Amino acid sequence: MKIKSLFCLLSALVLLASGMPVFAEDEVEIIWIDLDEGTVSETPDEPSEDSAENGEEFFTPSHGSPYRDDIASSYWTTPMDIRDEEAVWNMLMEPITVVDLGKVKGNSHSQLTKLQTYLYREPDTKSKIVGEVSNLSQGVRVIENLDNGWSLVECYSSSFFSKPATKTQAWNLLVTGYIPTKYLKQVTPTPRLALVVDKLAQRLYVFQEGRMIAELLCSTGLVQWNGSKYQPYNETRSGEFLLINMTGQLTSDRLICSYAIRFNGGDELHEVPHQENQDGTNNYKSTEPKLGTKCSHGCIRVQRLKTPDGINMAWIYNLVKSEDLCGKVKIVIWEDWQGRQLPEPDPDTLLYYNPNGGSYYHREDHCSNGKGITFTAFRYSQLDEAPYSSLKSCPNCAPERRLKEIREINELYAEGGDHEELLNSLRQDYWDYLEK
Ligand SMILES: [Zn+2]
Repeated sequence: MKIKSLFCLLSALVLLASGMPVFAEDEVEIIWIDLDEGTVSETPDEPSEDSAENGEEFFTPSHGSPYRDDIASSYWTTPMDIRDEEAVWNMLMEPITVVDLGKVKGNSHSQLTKLQTYLYREPDTKSKIVGEVSNLSQGVRVIENLDNGWSLVECYSSSFFSKPATKTQAWNLLVTGYIPTKYLKQVTPTPRLALVVDKLAQRLYVFQEGRMIAELLCSTGLVQWNGSKYQPYNETRSGEFLLINMTGQLTSDRLICSYAIRFNGGDELHEVPHQENQDGTNNYKSTEPKLGTKCSHGCIRVQRLKTPDGINMAWIYNLVKSEDLCGKVKIVIWEDWQGRQLPEPDPDTLLYYNPNGGSYYHREDHCSNGKGITFTAFRYSQLDEAPYSSLKSCPNCAPERRLKEIREINELYAEGGDHEELLNSLRQDYWDYLEK
């Protein structure tokens, strides 16, 4: 690290030490270790095709990468298909290569987890910066270790909101770049808990000891105009990460987010936010109905209602805390690449309801939403017929979506379309910067 850079870092630390900011969803406090800056040339990244079997196209997280070869069970090459429990589990248990910038004097653990560094276009700090990675949490795909102390790696750039604007603004783009090899470290994840967030399905899948034990509703980030500016950094960054800091509770605009666990610099996994009623009780009315769709400022909002097995965000938080798993739990986020499609459920799939006045359809014959009741079965193919057509999807057990909803999503993500037209237009500054 150059003297000038060290000075920048120390200045940043002084600023941080002078008062830790309240951590808000859309105002992430990030500091950078700046190795240096410079200029250089050309763009990497050409789209590639993923393997197709049985007429169904499987997408992997490295769908947009020019590099194909890798260990079969890695995050980068495992198909984003939650139905293959064994393949997903093997991927979740594969060691993860994270960035570890080492001890920085005066920095607490919490501050260390907010550090970021850069990926360079060449193995040289004077070359152009192509992306950002977060300390201790973000996994990178190592493509090549060079003899000169540098490694070529790939990841989705962890570009966040910042003042002044970051050099790259590579909002959640899959980027390839160089980083000093000494900053790379392998971590073996725990089998006690592992998480998959699918941005296409807007679901969080909970794994433990080789099995998927819950499917929870979630909301990832939505790129939007907030009244005064566009927020491209709202798009939740994809990739594989370690849960890294027990934040506990944070407040964003008057919204209170409980059971927060930080990963990837400024991103948090937390319970769906609530407001406080005058009588002190929690009010989830404005946020809970939106679960299952994108709507956060980048953090991942997770269901607070309990599944039939009693699993929710509080359960996840308490498990990580009681078993001291922070730093060992892998969370992977699957990119919603254009062209990906949600599978349509088997028409014979059984669903359940309460014929004596229930307003929901359920995943199993019992649910924590309707305690003590044994529900009656019907088939998925009957869902649009009376009396099932008026039933709503149970927010506790998150059963299959209706066919109409699945087809609407699939239409938006159909090959040749552009579900993130706004985000792509906001990425133009980055493409221009690379061309300069
Ligand atoms: Zn239910």
